[in-house]
Amino acid sequence: MTIDKQHYVLCSHCDLVIELSNIAVGHKAVCPRCNTTLAKNNSNMKFNAAMYAACSLIMIIVGCGFLFIDIRIVGNFIGISLLDIPKTLFFDKYRYISALFILFVLLFPILNLLIIILLCSKLPLTKYRKRDLLIVYEKFQHWCMPEIFLTGILVSFVKLMSYGSIGVTSTFWAFCLFVFFYIKSLVIFSPETIWSEIHRNNFAQGILQAGKTGICQNLKLCSCCEAILPKHYIKCPRCKQKSKIRERDKIQWTIALLVTSLILYIPANLFGIMITVVFGSPSSSTIMDGVIYMWQAGDVPVALVIFIASVAIPILKIISLSWLCYFALAVKRKNNHNCLKMKKLYTAVEFIGKWSMIDIFVVSVICSLVRNQQMMGVYPDIGVTFFATVVIITMIASQKFDPRLIWDLPQNKKID
Ligand SMILES: [Zn+2]
Ligand SMILES: [Zn+2]
Repeated sequence: MTIDKQHYVLCSHCDLVIELSNIAVGHKAVCPRCNTTLAKNNSNMKFNAAMYAACSLIMIIVGCGFLFIDIRIVGNFIGISLLDIPKTLFFDKYRYISALFILFVLLFPILNLLIIILLCSKLPLTKYRKRDLLIVYEKFQHWCMPEIFLTGILVSFVKLMSYGSIGVTSTFWAFCLFVFFYIKSLVIFSPETIWSEIHRNNFAQGILQAGKTGICQNLKLCSCCEAILPKHYIKCPRCKQKSKIRERDKIQWTIALLVTSLILYIPANLFGIMITVVFGSPSSSTIMDGVIYMWQAGDVPVALVIFIASVAIPILKIISLSWLCYFALAVKRKNNHNCLKMKKLYTAVEFIGKWSMIDIFVVSVICSLVRNQQMMGVYPDIGVTFFATVVIITMIASQKFDPRLIWDLPQNKKID
């Protein structure tokens, strides 16, 4: 079985027009210029995506209902359910972190799974309803982090071992399955298939030439549904969203957000992220204190994970995005080799950006679990708020950056 007849796509990363035909089942088409995945042909896409999404939803219902992890501190048993984590943060007056937890770990992934089920089911949805669901899906996708929370739990186990002995329940394994099924359904689900059901991507048919860039042919890509549109279209006829031939003004947004995150990165590292109270005497620890403590305790891999995710990634991300902005705007002599290197850098920045949330989730788990009032308690500290804001702002900064500017040659820059 093969997908579709011949059709054209415009690469969202390098702006090249490519003619696609006959993608075999289980295969994908990649851009010959920048290696971006352009289309994939998963057999039984709708059935498989909906099945995995449904299994994932069942697992999260089980995962939210019962005790999740427990700890024994000097004979005292403390157990928490998944929902106890945001509840504890809420009552500790860290409502912002509590809200982020609910949105990124539970609400957005669950909403996206429901959308996949609705779009892949045989329900008689109108094309307007399908369009609205797909727009919501695309908006939330960047902000779903259940896999990062799961990694955060595993990292927190190493820290928690110094407080007492940890136990996991079958609910914890249900949560692991939720994450596994969630990732499977996302990998299989193809929004392009649903968009083509709403309307075929043929708005620029007849004026397209494969092997040339879109900007040379006065064509633009809809940033929402990836339809190829003639430049003069203000709104996309398929998704009704506005898009420009280039998002150059957004570079100013990227730079402004990077400066903001650099300023916030200072208090995020200077202030403590956790307060440990032992027999009534509190002591605050910063991110680096945690890394040093783990290193000295002999947990070198965990110390490295926290150092890379919480200290190195945010600062590397700020440097990389600044370099990308400079390359896009100021470098005149571009060739395929250095453009490809910058494209790989951008892909890496986009991928690793949200992994810095690990430390926020580690703090959330530890603070919810270590609450033995008589002996010791662990509470979040103000640094965690600054740090979460740095991660969110750098994520928005990388989303604002238009990667096609990497490939634009100076003569094309006049066209706008
Ligand atoms: Zn490309
Ligand atoms: Zn569109």
